[in-house]
Amino acid sequence: RFEQSEALKRLPEQFFASLVGKTQALKREGHDVINLGQGNPDQPTPDHIVKAMQQAAENPDYHKYSPFRGHQFLKEAVAKFYKREYGVDVDPETEVAVLFGTKTGLVEISQCLLNAGDSALLPDPGYPDYMSGIALADAKPHFFPLLEKNHFLPDYDAISDEALNLSKLMFLNYPNNPTSAVATREFFDETVSVANKHNICVVHDFAYGAIGFDGKKPTSFLESEGAKDVGIEMYTLSKTYNMAGWRVGFAVGNSSVIESLNLIQDHLYVSLFGAVQEAAAEALLGVQSAVDMLVETYETRRNALVKAARSIGWDVTGPKGTFFAWFKVPDGYTSEQFADLLLNEAHVVVAPGKGFGETGEGYVRIGLLDEPERLEEAMERVGRLGVLKK
Ligand code: PLP
Repeated sequence: RFEQSEALKRLPEQFFASLVGKTQALKREGHDVINLGQGNPDQPTPDHIVKAMQQAAENPDYHKYSPFRGHQFLKEAVAKFYKREYGVDVDPETEVAVLFGTKTGLVEISQCLLNAGDSALLPDPGYPDYMSGIALADAKPHFFPLLEKNHFLPDYDAISDEALNLSKLMFLNYPNNPTSAVATREFFDETVSVANKHNICVVHDFAYGAIGFDGKKPTSFLESEGAKDVGIEMYTLSKTYNMAGWRVGFAVGNSSVIESLNLIQDHLYVSLFGAVQEAAAEALLGVQSAVDMLVETYETRRNALVKAARSIGWDVTGPKGTFFAWFKVPDGYTSEQFADLLLNEAHVVVAPGKGFGETGEGYVRIGLLDEPERLEEAMERVGRLGVLKK
């Protein structure tokens, strides 16, 4: 009786929903499922952040609507964070937008900048929400492949001039979900010049900005000279501070794009609960030792997973950042067949690469989202299936 709008019908299928459904079904049957499928951080929010929120929740001012566009103190905290972490100057008044997690911003940005029929560039494989925004805006996606031979960075020379000239927006994401690749400063410098030449707004998704391994801190796009002239960066507290449930993120960069994001948000939300904003400022400006520990934890897990995978004969490349590994599936399987086999026969949940795009075919994404022993156990179970060559 009430038919869905054309915009909703254009939305891509939420492939994680089916993965979650299958996982829950196995758990209900009483199986010991090792769930490395979804990107949900498994550790708690650091204590001092939780305490800041508990205290702030008693402030009756926060029981009212928060100011539109967020509290001044949070925007200032974001600016200080960028200066401290990346040496980047940010004007808290005009260059910061507070977001309900970056998922909202990543979808809204397409509505901010694209008209129906406009083009946008996005990575394949890539985080699915970029496409959701493009679909809602009735714009046209131009996927560029992320290939292992290019270290999962786009090869701008391989993108047609037509696609570059037509596109108004480009999504990038490093450290990268799902390939776990990291970007260099040189790559971002090149990106700025490509964006300038073709008049493209770059949206860099820096969700895994804190998670780089082997002592290498990931580079912010805004560190490149001129980056603020051509784009913005989105940063979430979900991963750096294990705050996925709190829904706090922000966008930083080009003031006209930030104004557009703020404008759309004025019509969709009043800003976040004030106590959450206070806790977010505490996260950004308070002690950072928990972040160092977090990176150490993921690195220990990475090492355990890679070692265990190799010991069962799986020829894998270890991740350089994020909390994902991107492993090639053995010959003779599609990514979905292999992920289904692991799920049904080993009760190990991984995400099939195809869920992130056509170029993701041939890989599975494995989350570093359980203790090292569980990751080893997962690999032992996979080894017992006998599908990997020793
Ligand atoms: N971007 C990437 C690449 C992600 O993996 C995620 C979450 O999984 C997000 C953005 C969204 O994060 P949030 O909405 O929690 O800020």
